[in-house]
Amino acid sequence: MSRMGDSTLAPEGGSLLAQWVSNIMEETGTIEIMSENNQTEIRNAVIIGSGPAGWTAGIYLSRANLSPLVITGAEIGGQLTTTTDIENFPGFPEGKDGPELMADMEKQAKRYGTEVEYSVVESVDFSKKPFEVKYGDKTVKAHSIIICTGASPRMLGIKGQDTFWGRGVHTCAVCDGGFYRNKVAAVIGGGDSAMEEASYLAQLLEKVYVIHRREEFRASKIMADRVLRNKKIEVLWNSVAEEVTGDTSGKFPKMTGLKIKSTTDDSIREIAADAIFYAIGHIPNSKFLSDDIKKNEEGYVIVNDSQETSVEGVYAAGDIHDHTYRQAITAAGYGCKAALEVERYLGRVGVIG
Ligand SMILES: Cc1cc2nc3c(=O)[nH]c(=O)nc-3n(C[C@H](O)[C@H](O)[C@H](O)COP(=O)(O)OP(=O)(O)OC[C@H]3O[C@@H](n4cnc5c(N)ncnc54)[C@H](O)[C@@H]3O)c2cc1C
Repeated sequence: MSRMGDSTLAPEGGSLLAQWVSNIMEETGTIEIMSENNQTEIRNAVIIGSGPAGWTAGIYLSRANLSPLVITGAEIGGQLTTTTDIENFPGFPEGKDGPELMADMEKQAKRYGTEVEYSVVESVDFSKKPFEVKYGDKTVKAHSIIICTGASPRMLGIKGQDTFWGRGVHTCAVCDGGFYRNKVAAVIGGGDSAMEEASYLAQLLEKVYVIHRREEFRASKIMADRVLRNKKIEVLWNSVAEEVTGDTSGKFPKMTGLKIKSTTDDSIREIAADAIFYAIGHIPNSKFLSDDIKKNEEGYVIVNDSQETSVEGVYAAGDIHDHTYRQAITAAGYGCKAALEVERYLGRVGVIG
């Protein structure tokens, strides 16, 4: 729960009128708290999203005494809460459980004064300054905004996917490929990402299948050639994954194979595989953002070197703009960068001294 509506921000010793206006606003869900001298409370910074980028921005801004508000979204803690062992986030030589890592980041952000609303942002009015952020039945005003809403991996939704999720079914080779050293995996897709994932996995695994529904790749020639030349990689053309199979009798489910359907004659066959990696793209969570915020054709927010978007005072950090690296550590790094830029911006426009 946010402290926006509690006594810490409520008018103290103000006029009865101010108190009355404040009450009405709270009752109607308009989170504009009037201060002692009738000034509307405006947030220095609102951070949208609670993945590594969002919490890192929160840590930096709260340590700078700027009292940021994080609005978490439905997936509190972001994508890492959907996975178990994180082995590549520095500082944890034994690895770290994903939900635990994110809960610690939240704790760290709150420790320095980051406030939190467990809600989803529906829209932002970028035409006004301060900006107006709508979530639930509330509105908050902010001098600056950091968009950290990430990008969700596309899923196939095939049979067995949920049973073997994280125990065979994955969406990131760099993150989870290491769990399958000297084993067999299949990569689904035909674009540059699929080529990159397959080439990466071939360095660690004994064999990699690339399963592609057509008879040629959509990837750039240079990336496709790299895959086609690799002796550890076998391409299954005109094929789609139908079902993940495995053993569910033990403590944890264990994937052992994949049923594949031919797109030419509908025949089904099964291959032995320990893992499947979807490389069929991501969907940036940017639909709630108006056209004031420039995006590329896939919907990723466009930022400059300072993480600033097309609207002055609005920044973006993490997978919402970074479709290249998509890692927790890079998202956290961008969150840090955006927070430092927000601090400079607030100084530049005179909000802080
Ligand atoms: C299964 C899996 C395993 C992974 N393993 C690793 C790994 O081992 N190592 C690694 O470095 N990376 C890993 N990644 C990638 C990593 O999780 C992402 O790169 C990272 O989480 C991106 O951070 P982010 O802060 O940009 O966004 P996200 O973590 O995607 O967080 C986005 C946040 O935005 C919120 N949000 C979305 N829309 C709204 C809205 N309208 N209003 C408010 N909030 C909103 C969501 O609720 C969420 O809190 C993995 C990803 C997955 C899916």
